[in-house]
Amino acid sequence: GSSQSALNFGAGPAKLPREVLNEVQSELVSYQNSGMSLMEMSHRSKEYAAINKSAQDLIRELLNVPINYKIMFIQGGGLGAFAAVALNFLGKTGSADYAVTGTWSAKAAKEAEKYGTVNLVFPKADKPGKIPDQNTWTLNPDASYFYYCDNETVDGVEFPYIPETHGVPIVADMSSNIMTRKFDVSKFGCIFGGAQKNIGPAGAVVVIVREDLLGNAMKICPSVFNFSQVSKENSVLNTPATFSIYVMEKVLKWIQKNGGVDGMESQSDKKSNGLYAAIKNSGDFYSCPIEENCRSRINIPFRVGGPQGNEELEAKFLEEAEKRYMYQLKGHRSVGGIRASLYNATSYEDVMLLVQLMKEFQIQHQN
Ligand code: PLP
Repeated sequence: GSSQSALNFGAGPAKLPREVLNEVQSELVSYQNSGMSLMEMSHRSKEYAAINKSAQDLIRELLNVPINYKIMFIQGGGLGAFAAVALNFLGKTGSADYAVTGTWSAKAAKEAEKYGTVNLVFPKADKPGKIPDQNTWTLNPDASYFYYCDNETVDGVEFPYIPETHGVPIVADMSSNIMTRKFDVSKFGCIFGGAQKNIGPAGAVVVIVREDLLGNAMKICPSVFNFSQVSKENSVLNTPATFSIYVMEKVLKWIQKNGGVDGMESQSDKKSNGLYAAIKNSGDFYSCPIEENCRSRINIPFRVGGPQGNEELEAKFLEEAEKRYMYQLKGHRSVGGIRASLYNATSYEDVMLLVQLMKEFQIQHQN
């Protein structure tokens, strides 16, 4: 029960910029002196139309999205998007290539299997934590698309490059690292990301699709997942997650004001380098199981008390963290240990407070 802003290292829904939340609060019950909350307004009102347009324009500007790409919002979360991707694109040749590097790409592959043939381009590792060399992948030249998860939120694995697929359209899940680094949109067929980590509250998913890939959806594709239909109706085919998109538009403006994606990227490098350095400099007291070339800048899993982790010490670490207002540091139940998520709204200073805790905790508990 504190009004002090928590040091929130949660994986999602995640921390949002305080400026944005304060602004939302100030106009919550009367948006632009209308006497109505934005959440009480029609998705066809001129107020919401302006937000819908501004959010799309900001995404286009911030990510430098070429004109032959549509930007839209759907619901159903990341899991919904896994199905939507298959329903929109898998019909082309009936099969698709999936690179499974962790929890979320595995779930996406499983979802796609309901609608066609899924080829795993490399065998599933027993333990995630690395990305096999591209030369060893078996890509199908007739795949409808090649799919990967750019940042595995649970496992802490992030792609250090965009894969080479020799013309097969690339579909990427950027749910946990969208707007945290620059990338060349023109290399992709489709990019999607749930809002609830770097760009807003839960409820909306941003989808960016190259126009020539539209129009091939399966007959069974639900209208709300049909990218051609949704984009043709400018993301008001049906009632969108208006409040979520309204807050997202403010977060995007906040990103723009804070140096754009360039600014987010340099912050992200600084934050993650600081935390990885603290892990490295601890001897083996803290350890990260992920290979160095694919360590996530965003979700950083680590163990306390040796590479296998000491669960008792880890529980103590979490307790000590909460005493210092640091929350949601518990690793995913499938992985254990600690996980620090460093999304855009988490500052370098927040991370340094965590590093400080790590140092003090080590001094106290290393025998
Ligand atoms: N993809 C990634 C990379 C995620 O981190 C998550 C959720 O954490 C999802 C997909 C699933 O998103 P949702 O819970 O919105 O279905």
